[in-house]
Amino acid sequence: MNFHVLTLFPDMIIQGLYTSVVGRALKAGTIHLEAVNIRDYTLDKHKKVDDYPYGGGAGMLMQAQPVYDAFRAVRKSVYERRGEVPLRVVYLTPCGKTFHQDMARELAREEDLVLLCGHYEGIDERVLEEIVTDEVSIGDYVLTGGELPAMVLVDAVSRMVPGVLGNQVSGESESFCKNLLEYPQYSRPEVWRDKRVPEILLSGDHARIEQWRLEQSLERTSLRRPELYESWVSENQEYFRKKAKREERMRKKEEKARKAAQNACIL
Ligand code: SAM
Repeated sequence: MNFHVLTLFPDMIIQGLYTSVVGRALKAGTIHLEAVNIRDYTLDKHKKVDDYPYGGGAGMLMQAQPVYDAFRAVRKSVYERRGEVPLRVVYLTPCGKTFHQDMARELAREEDLVLLCGHYEGIDERVLEEIVTDEVSIGDYVLTGGELPAMVLVDAVSRMVPGVLGNQVSGESESFCKNLLEYPQYSRPEVWRDKRVPEILLSGDHARIEQWRLEQSLERTSLRRPELYESWVSENQEYFRKKAKREERMRKKEEKARKAAQNACIL
């Protein structure tokens, strides 16, 4: 997968992403990243890329021309490599749809992904209308630029690209994977500051461990993210039917055992 980040601060993107898991994937060539400096494309002789907004208001706006020409340079290189394919261009903006795991999974299917970072008070709307296919926000707060949001996207999307995580299963069992938060996890030692790892995790019984983890995920999600829990419940009615049946069977078994014990006492 190829990420193309259009930015006024390419060093920030490169320095931020060439570390740890994503950095290793970049070095191994599992994913590719280019940070394109929008300023290199300005036609202004003083290398200016911003100007005052029409109608007044605080701050400066990034102008359409350098953004458009930077985008065209990226598009040209993609077209030379792959032909005239449709290109997904994501503008990072607080006005966009809030980013989430399903979006990361979906974007990871693109071979090329262009990410556009705004700065100052944002970007002239006309170039956004011309090139942007998706507007994405990383949350309801305002940052000084789109570079951190772009890094968030690159990180989350990369993890969904086969080969980026050492153990692909971990990407599939994490928080939000099935609209549930992840269950609590423990590592060695078994006892730390008098706190024991839950016994079930030491049992080696994988079916029961899976069941325990699901229950923990459900409990955690219902407490911390009730709206996610509700949507899981509505999509997984079968789970609750089976659970109720299992509990009924257990109850009957215990009742039978209790009666048998009573009878044995009477005799
Ligand atoms: N005037 C804009 C507004 O009120 O929506 C905010 C501009 S912000 C100071 C500058 C740039 O930072 C934006 O163009 C965008 O690229 C980026 N940005 C800021 N907050 C963001 C967020 N929550 N998600 C994604 N991008 C964000």
